[in-house]
Amino acid sequence: MQVERTVYLRSMRRLFFVILIAVVSLMNVFAQTPEKLAAAWDDDHVSTAFPSDTRHADLKKYLDQLKKLGLKVAQVGLSNANREIYQVEWGTGPLKVFMWSQMHGDEPTATPALVDMFAFLKKNSDRDWVKKIGETMTIRAVPMLNPDGAELYQRRNLQGIDINRDAVDLKTPEARLLKQLRDDWSPNIGFNLHNQQALTTAGNLPQQAAISLLVVFGDEAKTLDAGQERNQRIASGMAAALQKFIPGHIGRYSDEWTPTAFGDNFSAWGTPTILIETGALHGRDEMYLVKMNFVAYLTAFHSIATGSEKTYDPKIYVNLPENGSGRLIHYVFRGANIVEPATPTAPAVIKPGDISAFSERRRASLVPSVKIRNVGNIGAVTGLEEFDVKGFNVIQRFGRTKAGEIADLFFYKRERNIDWAATDLEKQFPPDAIFSAGKWTKGENLVLKK
Ligand SMILES: [Zn+2]
Repeated sequence: MQVERTVYLRSMRRLFFVILIAVVSLMNVFAQTPEKLAAAWDDDHVSTAFPSDTRHADLKKYLDQLKKLGLKVAQVGLSNANREIYQVEWGTGPLKVFMWSQMHGDEPTATPALVDMFAFLKKNSDRDWVKKIGETMTIRAVPMLNPDGAELYQRRNLQGIDINRDAVDLKTPEARLLKQLRDDWSPNIGFNLHNQQALTTAGNLPQQAAISLLVVFGDEAKTLDAGQERNQRIASGMAAALQKFIPGHIGRYSDEWTPTAFGDNFSAWGTPTILIETGALHGRDEMYLVKMNFVAYLTAFHSIATGSEKTYDPKIYVNLPENGSGRLIHYVFRGANIVEPATPTAPAVIKPGDISAFSERRRASLVPSVKIRNVGNIGAVTGLEEFDVKGFNVIQRFGRTKAGEIADLFFYKRERNIDWAATDLEKQFPPDAIFSAGKWTKGENLVLKK
């Protein structure tokens, strides 16, 4: 009796473990949360430099690392200045996914994100859900399609042509390559990866659109075919995943038809394409947005491989707030007394007003270029950083407190007696506070941050 009971208990215990293992491996296939993807990126990403500081030579080093991991990396073309353009491939499945980044040289976020994505897929290819992705699809990606533009950190290629307006004329080697890679392979899905302005908003609220999505129509009439319906569901999945990290900061990009752009033409040529535009998020660095891209790509692949995209409601994507502009600015100084220095014919004038200033797009390693946008009536904009400067007279470093000038600002307590015509104002009358290149270099504690 005792023996039988022991045997019975043993077999029940074995059965329990068999079921447990089955459940866990099923969960492994089908459950991959955005949080886990983000944690995986935190633990083990390949990219090390900020995207804006990543040049062609750095990309080549990343690609060497991918080659060492065993990924297929092939040189597929040359830029106008004969820089190599590469394509990376992973997976063996029948569904063909094609991605490209940085066709605009100063739009770099997706380039390291693609590198991190391939490294992750390769390193984790024995995990059930990753294996499933590799069996379902073959992924090809061209990171940094415009290496000459990336080197100069400019939008256009070396010929001064916007590659994303060259899909029809094909005057650039980069556009010809991109079209050839598509035509030779006829991918089933395209991912067109860009950056948008940092001050783009998600809707009309003063909230930065850190990521904006667009399911690109293949015609001006905006015909919604099966490929685009699928892409809308995939985009819904990506948006839902990103909501966990950046709620309120996800926008929908304008779906206006652009006949010479690549996204529109890819969709027209039979590769329904999803556009991902990375913006900015104040207080978060560029690497955070690399991580958001990584989460978005893998969420998309996971949803396709497991079929879960079929259960997503396209309305999550369709109802994303449309991209907006004109509501946000980097810096606002409220309640200033603005000094217009004396001219040979007129005395100095001091009048109340606000000042707004914006930071230009440039490499993270460079000193930020911050310029005055408006002085006086700055309109209904909100500053990502707002300062209450009542009680101060404000003058630009060179006395030119007006739109377009650099926002190097001297703040003087109003009770001080200043000769605004002084030749070396800073030396003769040291300011109480100085705002320069996007930060307070003196007297920050005197100024109220709103
Ligand atoms: Zn772009």
